[in-house]
Amino acid sequence: MEDCLFCKFVSKELKTNIVYENEDFIVFKDIAPQAKNHFLAVPKKHFKYLADMTEEDAALLGRILKTIPTLKDVLELKGGYRLVINQGDDAGQTVPHLHIHILSGQKMGWTPA
Ligand code: AMP
Ligand code: ZN
Repeated sequence: MEDCLFCKFVSKELKTNIVYENEDFIVFKDIAPQAKNHFLAVPKKHFKYLADMTEEDAALLGRILKTIPTLKDVLELKGGYRLVINQGDDAGQTVPHLHIHILSGQKMGWTPA
């Protein structure tokens, strides 16, 4: 999608620090980390909301969720981790391309905004 930051990372029009990539998604470091380790898993396909997903998108998201734990070394997941998907303004979604926050490296209390 034009003018989508994360689509530009996917297409490599803009450079970011990609630590993992497969046919479904890319993973890169969040520019403003909210934990010791903070990565974003971004589907290559553009959609904003879980509510917009087709069955095919749901399968894609399932594959991403299944792959994340296999990346335990590169994402430093061994002590435990948290996955977050912000949806809409009240949740603080700022980038209109669905993404999964992957946070690890420290004890995290329940800290919604
Ligand atoms: P959300 O608020 O859930 O939409 O998350 C968007 C995330 O994208 C935030 O955690 C930002 O810090 C992150 N972000 C914004 N711009 C960049 C960028 N240029 N490179 C990496 N992460 C970014
Ligand atoms: Zn996009």
